[in-house]
Amino acid sequence: MRAHIKKKIGKMTILVTAGPTREKIDPVRFISNYSTGTFGYEIAREAARRRHKVVLVSGPTALEGPRGVRIVRVESAAEMLEAVRRISKKADCVIMAAAVSDWRPRIARGTKIKRSGSIRALELVENPDILSELGTKKKCILVGFALETEALEKNAAAKLAKKNLDLLVANKITKNENVFGRGRTDVVIMGKEGVKERHRRKTKKGLAKIILDKALNLTI
Ligand code: C5P
Repeated sequence: MRAHIKKKIGKMTILVTAGPTREKIDPVRFISNYSTGTFGYEIAREAARRRHKVVLVSGPTALEGPRGVRIVRVESAAEMLEAVRRISKKADCVIMAAAVSDWRPRIARGTKIKRSGSIRALELVENPDILSELGTKKKCILVGFALETEALEKNAAAKLAKKNLDLLVANKITKNENVFGRGRTDVVIMGKEGVKERHRRKTKKGLAKIILDKALNLTI
């Protein structure tokens, strides 16, 4: 049975995730990605400006926490999963803008791996998919992000369905465009029943407004 969330006029509780995760190899090294956290922080800032109750679960970033937002700092995907599980229980909407690392080293070493040692390869295991877990017990509005290097719309539509999302914001990495950080970006916003909206050369601040307008007007 699907939960039913009434569209709220006033305060909603919104959980936003942002930034990369870091997956420890040893005490000085990790696996991560180029995410700066900008998109998620802009969404959290805009949601707080609209007077919603906002919790931002953030991986390591260089950004200052937006005013009026409760920030929970995490490092690994496992820590992000734990925080999201706990905080999403009270959320009306979860916006997963974080770039969660898909893999982690099977073993996080307690001591620094020596250059002269025998290591030739890292054994990786898959991280849990946080958003998919929320999608299986759908209790609130769910918004996902997708970064693709090819077949953007096809892959994004598949993700929207597979993860049981209400909205998916997709953008493409090309040689000429840096989607990370503060620059303008092209995105496709997809909703259920194949609804698509293309936006070109928009700031992440501007897109944050558009995404929130859409997400918070949805009912599930
Ligand atoms: O499948 P893919 O990683 O492209 O999906 C991206 C979306 O799923 C993002 O919203 C991201 O935050 C979320 N995700 C997640 N847990 C993972 C990987 C991605 O919640 N382990």
